Amino acid sequence: MAEFVLRIGSFSAQGVRPNNEDRFVVDEGQRLFMVADGMGGQERGEVASGMAAEIIPQAVKESLANEEAADAALRRAMAQANSAIVDAGRGQPEGRRMGTTAVCALHKGDNVYVASLGDSRAYLIRDDAVEQLTVDHSVAQALVASGALTPEEARHSPYQHVLHKFLGCANMAEGAEVKPISVHAGDRLLLASDGLTNHITEQDLRTGVLKYADPQEWAEHLVKTALERGSRDNVTCIVVAFESAA
Ligand code: CA
Repeated sequence: MAEFVLRIGSFSAQGVRPNNEDRFVVDEGQRLFMVADGMGGQERGEVASGMAAEIIPQAVKESLANEEAADAALRRAMAQANSAIVDAGRGQPEGRRMGTTAVCALHKGDNVYVASLGDSRAYLIRDDAVEQLTVDHSVAQALVASGALTPEEARHSPYQHVLHKFLGCANMAEGAEVKPISVHAGDRLLLASDGLTNHITEQDLRTGVLKYADPQEWAEHLVKTALERGSRDNVTCIVVAFESAA
């Protein structure tokens, strides 16, 4: 089993919004990383993303302590956060309901396990290849998958930001899908909210990885670039660099 040293960068900007509903977790002890983008009126989004940031690391910790596998631990943690957020929103009037996206990555051994609900994304940057590891759970993306819309039409669809799966979703038939990715030395993993991914292209990631060796510098540069390109949203990302321990 290969050993990896992780170097991590993270940055979150409120941007022009009156509050920052994005939350991120860098848990170096557990090698768990998460970005959550809350939604809901009157600061409820902050409550939901804050709950995800609290519940998920704790739940993963308990599962791993019980020697549960990494993928099962992530799935359970997501399900636990989902029901806690649903419960907290119960009885609230329509406009006071809340939810949050969550994209999580848990590194264990040779793999990093990636799970996502909503439209925050994970990307793997390996050499000059960029791979989006997550699927956006937006209605527009589902329409693309079914062939009803082209990707170009989806970009202008009013359903682009309407999510059909997220944490706080009362009727979620199946939970989060967990994807194991085998890690290579030199890999960079990016987790980001849509305030960033709406303005950063895969080409930006290909060139950026060559230019920014330091994950913190790269994370700050990516957030700054999204804001300069007119992101009117909260903008958050985590960059994890996997380096060979030898
Ligand atoms: Ca957002």
